[in-house]
Amino acid sequence: MLKCQKCGKTYEKFRMLCECGGLLDVLVGFRESFESLLNEKYLDVRRYLNFLPINENFLPKLILPITPTVEKEIENVKVLFKLEYLMPSGSFKDRGSYVTIAKLKEEGIKEISLDSSGNAAISFALFGKAEGIKVHVFIPERTSEGKKRVLKLLGAEVHEIKGLRMDVHWKAREFKGAFYISHWYNPYFLEGTKIAAYEIFEQVGEVDYVLVPTGSGTLFLGLYKGFKELNNFGKVKMPKLIAVQAEGYESLCKRSKRKSKLAEGIAIPEPPRKEQMLKALKETKGFCISVGDREIDKAISDLISMGFLVEPTSAVVFAAFKKLLERDEFEKDSKVLLPLTGSSLKVI
Ligand SMILES: [Zn+2]
Repeated sequence: MLKCQKCGKTYEKFRMLCECGGLLDVLVGFRESFESLLNEKYLDVRRYLNFLPINENFLPKLILPITPTVEKEIENVKVLFKLEYLMPSGSFKDRGSYVTIAKLKEEGIKEISLDSSGNAAISFALFGKAEGIKVHVFIPERTSEGKKRVLKLLGAEVHEIKGLRMDVHWKAREFKGAFYISHWYNPYFLEGTKIAAYEIFEQVGEVDYVLVPTGSGTLFLGLYKGFKELNNFGKVKMPKLIAVQAEGYESLCKRSKRKSKLAEGIAIPEPPRKEQMLKALKETKGFCISVGDREIDKAISDLISMGFLVEPTSAVVFAAFKKLLERDEFEKDSKVLLPLTGSSLKVI
């Protein structure tokens, strides 16, 4: 069931926003124990099906793996890299697409539209191709040829729009005949991304800090939700959530004058779920930190030398980690989780 954050109205059917314009959240409550809900016969996303609001008769054909968590000791801190870029379409977005696609199948929706030129579009296009769901992707005309080529290869109908990012957004929303599915609003997307927290708990137990690249907040709020549910099961304390943003696009901390050119995946100055993110930061005693292109550049090469081939947006968490290490933010032996969200090999 979906519930409006503003007026409290509830909905059974899939929709993006409430009639009043308010954002929707998925309501899930668990009466059983964590162990009895875990589907131990699987070692992939199906292990966590009972924690997801989806019907087993409508599961997507694409099965998501459990991504590895690699531990490295850096200056007395246990750094846990969660390799989200090893998902089928090369980013963590596949988790959100998985749950969304299951809901679309349940409702018999065969045609969708979204505005994104990056990871979300590539992820939905890949799932759409496997399911026979037509995916209309609205992108700015200046989007790189590489990305356009990948989207076309995956069978997406690419609509190139002249103008600003918001013009692209409205064109996708107004497009007739397709169900609009932006991950900025989509409540089911967060249900998918929360599963990373379940995996982390099973792989390494409790963690003390989580650094997340944060633009629209789809991973940030998903991880918050996942850890919150685990906390309700009595499994973990809440980790401190640290939202990592890019210079010039800060929405949760003071906006810098200089603008990052590298972190395109989180270049979202006014995310619709901003208030929800501020609440999560406050509740977990976390904070927001921003990084610039020079720091991101250095972090990319550090990550590559550790064997992690990630895109610039993903590298922001390592740049922020190093900044916080210098500030002595982390206690000795604390566990710091850094999700590495997107592959650099995707656009070739
Ligand atoms: Zn409402």
